[in-house]
Amino acid sequence: MGKTDSLPGFHLLAKPTGAACNLGCKYCFFLSKKSLYPGSSFRMSDELLETYIRQYLEAQRIPQATIAWQGGEPTLMGLDFFRRSVQIEHKYSRPDMIIQNTMQTNGTLLDDEWCEFFRENNFLIGLSLDGPREFHDAYRVDKTGKPTFDRVMKAARLLRHHKVDYNILTTVHAANGDHPLEVYRFLRDEVKANFIQFIPIVERENDTGFQEGDVVTDRSVKAEQYGRFLISVFNEWVCRDVGRIFVQIFDVALAAWSGMPSGMCAFSETCGTAMALEHNGDMYSCDHFVEPKYLLGNIWKRDMAGLARSTKQQKFGRDKLDALPEYCRRCEVRFVCNGECPKNRFIKTPDGKSGLNYLCAGYKEFFRHIDGPMRFMAHELRLGRAPASIMKYTKDGKIPQVIFKPGRNDACPCGSGLKYKKCHGRAG
Ligand code: SF4
Ligand code: SF4
Repeated sequence: MGKTDSLPGFHLLAKPTGAACNLGCKYCFFLSKKSLYPGSSFRMSDELLETYIRQYLEAQRIPQATIAWQGGEPTLMGLDFFRRSVQIEHKYSRPDMIIQNTMQTNGTLLDDEWCEFFRENNFLIGLSLDGPREFHDAYRVDKTGKPTFDRVMKAARLLRHHKVDYNILTTVHAANGDHPLEVYRFLRDEVKANFIQFIPIVERENDTGFQEGDVVTDRSVKAEQYGRFLISVFNEWVCRDVGRIFVQIFDVALAAWSGMPSGMCAFSETCGTAMALEHNGDMYSCDHFVEPKYLLGNIWKRDMAGLARSTKQQKFGRDKLDALPEYCRRCEVRFVCNGECPKNRFIKTPDGKSGLNYLCAGYKEFFRHIDGPMRFMAHELRLGRAPASIMKYTKDGKIPQVIFKPGRNDACPCGSGLKYKKCHGRAG
């Protein structure tokens, strides 16, 4: 996504229950946001639901629109709320519009009725699952501290049974960070997930729950650990699963190596096109910055298109680039990393400058590691061939980097007859 000043469309994560959730995941960054709304019922009213959807659809200057539900736990609103939401979408949708509904859920309240509704209305569901039982239950517990693994696995089976489109969101943290293959194989072979997102837990130690301070909790993944995690999963994936299992960060990388824009705000040059809407109509710059300082306004008082295109929000999006340290600007993998998300930029560069990403060491290792294979796959794409052809060369978890890194004046291994530098990858 580009800058907000010429914003044809934007994303909004709506939180109909605010921070309210039926679970008590130990690393959840959103539970503490309850203190922003003391005494609130944490329920989006029907009037606000209609105002939100009307304003959002009217604000989109493109035919695609995504109604994205998140939490807290959105299913606490009950199914009828979402039935009304779909009716309202139909009421305000323009004839040329394609509306996608998405929901991020912990899955514990899902049953056949929910899943039938999701299927009938083409919802894309994001289900949170941190891998096999011992890793999932390390932090994903309910309010009484009881494990949730069995309930989430039941939800995955229900979603599959009802043929609902879903992807798995797996946070990577201190408990599962050293077990990449156990986690990945479990998601692939037991959960039968085709779409997987890994989300690093970088949780700052403070009392506010805001993005403040430079000490992380013990639950957080370490930078190098996260890099090793991604490298191990990539090695397995590139040997047997390309074109079959979609791992979000690998897709993002392939886009970058192909010279295409990133599909993830964290790896884009600028951001600011994905905002958060609270249960009472307050709109914030980003889901990760639901803090008074980043409040844009309330959609009862000012139309959300104005808030999304406001100077304040434009600045928020541009700051991602403007605040990038010189160390990142000179980095060889900046084209794909772009300093990742500003919420994680709280350590110092080797030359003592502020604003380096806490995960930098891990990303650097990972992006360097995948350079050869990514060049190869990007090259295949350019020739109109499937990137999966890389699996002819990758076997038994080993990646023969030399195949993908010939000298610039050597013939390209693809058989085109051209010199590698002419034929191959972005950096050539
Ligand atoms: S702050 Fe991070 S999560 Fe938020 S929009 Fe920017 S890159 Fe995305
Ligand atoms: S790998 Fe590190 S230095 Fe390079 S762009 Fe990312 S955060 Fe910056």
